[in-house]
Amino acid sequence: MEFIRALVFAWLYFALPAAAALPELPDMGAPSDTVLSPDEEKHLGEAFYRNLHQHVRISQDLEIQDYIASLGGRLVAQSEMANRTFHLFVVMEPEINAFAGPAGYIGVNSGLILATQSEGELASVLAHEIAHVTQQHLRRAFAAAKRLTLPMAAATLAAILIGTQAPELGQAALIALQAGGIQQQINFTRSHEQEADRVGIQILTASGFDPRSMPLFFERLQQSTRFLGQNVPEFLRTHPVTSARIADTRARAETFPYRQYPDSIGYLLTKAKLQVLTATDLSALQKSFETQRRQGTLEAKAAASYGLALSLKAQNRLAASQEILQALIERFPDQPQFIHALAQVELALGQTEQALKRYQSALQRFPGSRVLQLEYASALLENARFQEARRLLEALLPSQALQQPLLFQLLARAYAGLGAPAESQRYLAEYYYATGDLERAIEHATVASKLAQGNRILEAITQQRLQDFQAEDKARKQN
Ligand SMILES: [Zn+2]
Repeated sequence: MEFIRALVFAWLYFALPAAAALPELPDMGAPSDTVLSPDEEKHLGEAFYRNLHQHVRISQDLEIQDYIASLGGRLVAQSEMANRTFHLFVVMEPEINAFAGPAGYIGVNSGLILATQSEGELASVLAHEIAHVTQQHLRRAFAAAKRLTLPMAAATLAAILIGTQAPELGQAALIALQAGGIQQQINFTRSHEQEADRVGIQILTASGFDPRSMPLFFERLQQSTRFLGQNVPEFLRTHPVTSARIADTRARAETFPYRQYPDSIGYLLTKAKLQVLTATDLSALQKSFETQRRQGTLEAKAAASYGLALSLKAQNRLAASQEILQALIERFPDQPQFIHALAQVELALGQTEQALKRYQSALQRFPGSRVLQLEYASALLENARFQEARRLLEALLPSQALQQPLLFQLLARAYAGLGAPAESQRYLAEYYYATGDLERAIEHATVASKLAQGNRILEAITQQRLQDFQAEDKARKQN
């Protein structure tokens, strides 16, 4: 029963805030029951993020990750939780959606990024989600989830926040719906939404973005959904855009003086790359970039050229792509995205030494660039230079801000290439664990611990990890 009740609370809080039941949650028992400790929330957030990989494709593109993390960091720095670590990431789904999970894990869909027409619009959505976290709107729901075992709570939150079907929640939700209190829940949620808008606009403005972006994006969403009928995007189901809400944010935005807010090159390049990655008709996209190349600011033209080069590469027109990128680098020699794109084309053309040299010299100029380090390591692996790749990758292990499945995957490849199967299996296990696939993690950790026999340190590490994974699996199956 405890299980059902917690599930109902968590589900309603996220899935039906605009349409359904339950007033503010009653306090249940001792205060320690209703609040998560920072440590518990951190663990819940990590498990939540691992689990999300099982439902949706989380972008492993390091440049996209980097951009969204730095945009998030700029906003968080102006919030009440400037000293806390947030984890922003991109979900490769076409629906317009963004969500805040436990411990500052904030996801934004590629579809939402592509629907924005300025960086300020994207920032306004992220600022709104950050405000939900700083105002602790989600704390009670997370605390309710505490009544489940950690893996189950994480799985439940993941399913709910991205709006996927979670059949096990059906019955519980129905019971709760009948429990009533619908109007109260709407009011309760509206007050949270209003507060997130209000605090969000403060964060947005303090971060140097146009406060008018928020009502502008809301208006665009409202217009674009007028014809959608039942197919309202997930974000709008949990964040209904009403005329009153637009008017509120507009009135607030108008109190700030008007000025120009140019988009950063990072925003323009990220959008161009996402357009190519999600394109269904590459040749149509190519034509659109060809037109855009002749319009707008210097940065906008460069971003269109970059998009053109990426779309040509995706169609295997490598020489044409290379030519455009070389011209771009001549004009913008310090733009890492252009260097990386050109190196990728060179690798595809078999110009391996040239590509590796390009990465090396870029790393001398940008020694802290995680993107260039991982891409360089990946290029080394492609060319069977396993020892160099391993050294580079292991140096990155302690510095991971976000749990990074790609790093483990590359390490597994490096060790396989070096003829070290126990280490390779160990990192494969970490890769599957990081993507929420516990069963495969256990399989590979089992193999690793057997292969590690005789190597006392590695044996101890792999056995410990195997035990961790098994304990988590057991907890998951308890519910
Ligand atoms: Zn909201």
